[in-house]
Amino acid sequence: MKWSQTHIYTLKEAPSDAEIPSHKLLIRAGLVKKLAPGMYTYGSLALRSIRKFENIIRDELNKRGGVEILMPMVHPRELWEETNRWEEMGAGLLKFQNRNNHWFCLGATHEEAIVDYIRNDVKSYKDLPRNLYQIQTKYRDEIRPRFGLMRGREFSMKDAYSFDVDQAGALKTYQQMYEAYQAIFNRLGVEYRIVQADAGNIGGSQTHEFQLLADAGEDSLLVSDTTDFAANIEVCPAIDLQTDNSNEALKPIEKFATPGLKTISDLSKATGVPENQLVKTLFFSSNDQTNSKDKGLKPVAILLRGSDELNPVKLKNILGLVNAPQMLSDEEIKQVTSASPGSCGPLGLQIPIYMDTGVEGLKNYIVGANEDDCHIKNVNHERDYKITKVADLRMAKAGDKDPLSSGKLKAYRGIEVGHVFYLGKKYSEKMKATFLDHQGKAQNFEMGCYGIGVTRTVQACIEQNHDQDGIIWPKAIAPFQVHICLLDPQDEKAQNIVHEIETQLEASGYDVFIDDRNERPGVKFKDADLLGMPVRIVVGKKGLDQNEIEVVERRTKTVHKVSPDSASAVVKKLLI
Ligand code: ATP
Ligand code: MG
Repeated sequence: MKWSQTHIYTLKEAPSDAEIPSHKLLIRAGLVKKLAPGMYTYGSLALRSIRKFENIIRDELNKRGGVEILMPMVHPRELWEETNRWEEMGAGLLKFQNRNNHWFCLGATHEEAIVDYIRNDVKSYKDLPRNLYQIQTKYRDEIRPRFGLMRGREFSMKDAYSFDVDQAGALKTYQQMYEAYQAIFNRLGVEYRIVQADAGNIGGSQTHEFQLLADAGEDSLLVSDTTDFAANIEVCPAIDLQTDNSNEALKPIEKFATPGLKTISDLSKATGVPENQLVKTLFFSSNDQTNSKDKGLKPVAILLRGSDELNPVKLKNILGLVNAPQMLSDEEIKQVTSASPGSCGPLGLQIPIYMDTGVEGLKNYIVGANEDDCHIKNVNHERDYKITKVADLRMAKAGDKDPLSSGKLKAYRGIEVGHVFYLGKKYSEKMKATFLDHQGKAQNFEMGCYGIGVTRTVQACIEQNHDQDGIIWPKAIAPFQVHICLLDPQDEKAQNIVHEIETQLEASGYDVFIDDRNERPGVKFKDADLLGMPVRIVVGKKGLDQNEIEVVERRTKTVHKVSPDSASAVVKKLLI
């Protein structure tokens, strides 16, 4: 394909709202253009890359019995009410009415739609298992769309859904999909980790995320230096080896004045007690607003060591909530404790108290007195106040113990590109989707669901593969594998040689892009680096006089000077 016949406009500068390298490069290379926040037009180059990735996905899923379908993007409200997600998904679902005042939403995910599809068709165990997938535009009304295609409002997802007769079958399918995802991301040649994850409001018990490693990733991962344990920090068990003082004898409690000491750091400095021996009290509401009829505040107190940080996903799961719990405001805290946030503690509270496991081994510790500018020392749980539940509620961190060995955890940043869930009967029960088993008895389907962020992955590949000059496309999804800089577009000999090389390479299945614009060589080289096709060929009059053309590897910038006759053979070798 010739540049002059496409619609590609490169830019010297990235727009100011592009924060991370891949976003800047997507815009500068003219791959995508913003229509509105979180909504992008994919240009021809981006679309080629997206299509190539889609075809890798199709190939690996079809091999394993996946069947491609396409469901509507607009869904009726009644369907989402069957699972209560019309309310639970909150403002993330974009809802609207048609001319007859019927409510609809844009599909943010398709569990409801697929269960409806299957429950109408599949009557017997003889029709199972089934594994259906689609590649389709999703809409999620993300609060803060950012980083280009990474967190869009409108984006492309491959979503697959499996239906099995029993749990054993469903877990086997889960394993197959896990392997399909490994094959897919291996074909991209990118560095990724598979981590344990939270099920979010999709639900389900077993779930893994596929995370591309990149510093700009939004997710924190903890990976063992010894075993294959790896987890998203959201669900990573916190096992540190903090010293406790559980052998101390209990001392009598004592209130003391702490004027102006608002933070754990202030208190630690003033008392000389290290932060990890202090106990802090946080307040949340366990009403996550999933029931519009119940708006009441349900305060709970959380106790943590002063040096630890609360993990909101663990708290959400311990409290059995669908959405993350909200922190109480200073005013609400005052209503519950009679004190301002810096002076609160567990003594005398009339609300449930959840204690992080890190506090369990402490004795004679300091907490807020529930009286402004006062704390209490020598406090002990059970003797001085009762705990509702002890649980792992804190963020794990680098250096913590690997839950599976005596090894340690290391921290990485990741971009979530894929997610596999074992769902069990969560959706089939709520939506009364059944089949008849061997005995003719109605059973709910055992389900799994499996997503890949298609557009996010394409950008994540750029985030992991670029240099200061531009993109370095992985071969498997490069819009074109070969970029020919035709330096003298008017020269007939150069034209013929380029045509010859193009024909040979295309006959071998490679995609060839020819920069035939009337631009200076410097401009063409800069654009070739920016667009980042794996191999560049430079054909110019001067070189041809010496019977020479240049083949350049994008990643290493290695230059091979070769004769025009041998060019395609050299390129093919480089593209293996
Ligand atoms: P996140 O935690 O990043 O919001 P999610 O866990 O809600 O994502 P899933 O419901 O698991 O997302 O969706 C499957 C895949 O779709 C994700 O693994 C991700 O690659 C992609 N995806 C989700 N939200 C977006 C988005 N706003 N923009 C682009 N891709 C997305
Ligand atoms: Mg996810």
